[in-house]
Amino acid sequence: MEISGQGALVTGGGSGLGAATARHLATLGAKVAVLDYDLETARTVAKEIGGVAVGADVGNSAEVERAMAEAISGLGGAPRITVNCAGIGLAARIVGRDGALSLDTFEKTIRVNLMGTYYVLSHAARAMMELPPVGDDDERGVIINTSSVAWQDGQLGQGAYAASKGAIASLSLPAAREFARAGIRVVAIAPGLFETAMTETLPEDVRATITANIPFPARLGHAQEYARLVESIVTNPFLNGTTIRLDAAVRLPQS
Ligand code: NAP
Repeated sequence: MEISGQGALVTGGGSGLGAATARHLATLGAKVAVLDYDLETARTVAKEIGGVAVGADVGNSAEVERAMAEAISGLGGAPRITVNCAGIGLAARIVGRDGALSLDTFEKTIRVNLMGTYYVLSHAARAMMELPPVGDDDERGVIINTSSVAWQDGQLGQGAYAASKGAIASLSLPAAREFARAGIRVVAIAPGLFETAMTETLPEDVRATITANIPFPARLGHAQEYARLVESIVTNPFLNGTTIRLDAAVRLPQS
């Protein structure tokens, strides 16, 4: 699908991979609704790119419904491109060394990462279904979700995160199959380690160990590289129902 002239919604658009994606889509001619938990960060990015800022907790179904209505109103129609980047990266052992269970961490991670993605996907798809088809393939839209390489290489302490990201990866195919009749594609990106707020607090020695484990290029990914894959997915209609690792060949070790 052509990007220029389309409406787009990017969740987690106030920071990291989402902000880079919002900027990149705007550079390519899309009008972008930037959704974030923190309305101020969404406003900063939206102002910079001539977009629309929306504040919402993606893990709250009612807030997502309201945010989708705001995005549609601000964009002047339903977004044909939706990119789910909102997410959290909490770590905890299932049974802590002191015997404490990490049930709260698990519940919160599933609510924000998985339920948040699912709420946005559901509302986005329903709104896209009302749009007229465009292009040679009669496409109505594309939904891109963010998994993680932890989907397949979950490390010690990543039980909640890996479970949430595994479910997001598993969602691509059934959602793509369901929405095929409407001309809506669903693809997930599973990033390796990227330079964003989520990773900037890592101690130097941890970063060095991580980097030493990345075959090539031996560095953290740039958010712009994620945004360029979003561009490829949107513009290539044959990409559908799959999860793409974007990871410089990294395979995460046990810990
Ligand atoms: P980031 O810079 O922390 O961006 C995530 C954004 O999501 C933040 O703006 C955050 O807002 C927002 N957010 C968090 N919870 C939210 C909620 N409940 N509702 C709405 N927005 C919420 O992190 P990032 O690295 O760009 O991560 C983007 C996605 O990529 C995440 O799903 C992450 O799991 C995934 N990922 C990242 C990496 C990596 O190495 N960076 C690797 C694999 C996968 P606040 O800052 O206000 O909380």
